[in-house]
Amino acid sequence: MTNNDGTLVGGTCGVSEYGVQCGNTVRARGPVGPQWAQVPVCEKHAAILTNWNVGTYRTQMMAEMEKRGLISGHLPGYTYMIWLPNDRIKIGSVGREDRLLERWKEITADYVKAGYKDPIKPLAVFEGGKSKEAAIQGKFNHLRVQDELGEQFTPDPELIEYAENQRIPTDLAYLIPTYEKWWDQYAPKKGIDIPASAGDDWNF
Ligand SMILES: [Zn+2]
Repeated sequence: MTNNDGTLVGGTCGVSEYGVQCGNTVRARGPVGPQWAQVPVCEKHAAILTNWNVGTYRTQMMAEMEKRGLISGHLPGYTYMIWLPNDRIKIGSVGREDRLLERWKEITADYVKAGYKDPIKPLAVFEGGKSKEAAIQGKFNHLRVQDELGEQFTPDPELIEYAENQRIPTDLAYLIPTYEKWWDQYAPKKGIDIPASAGDDWNF
């Protein structure tokens, strides 16, 4: 469907997902793309296409630049790698130290809402925000997967090894017990049983 000026309005998502036509309503903000290449997509497929574009172009360029030693510093912030309740890895970034814990809580809550009953497991934190995140994501672009909870990476040994070579820096080590303490309080409120052996204080 088009307006008088030829712009697309309304209609259904033109994306085919694993060979099946989506057919959902086009997102409220309209089709995606410049005026000369408009694609009618629903909200979900707009997000997926954006992620794919970023993954294909921005992150791979950053990874290549980092590999060649062309980056002399990164944008402020921290990049984290966490083990998700669905057994995949998330690579994300925040602008400030105090956002790390907040972000991990938000992600945990998203998974609990989706029916998962496990906490996340932080694997590594790197200095550097958005640009560092892009460089690491680009390095592991071949492991990237996408589902309704966003972009993730399959836990391939090379990715795990990369995280284990970094781990959580000493000055941020406090984040782990703080997160675990939060989970111990949060989980029961969401009707999740925590095994008695996990996270227990010593009771002599
Ligand atoms: Zn769609």
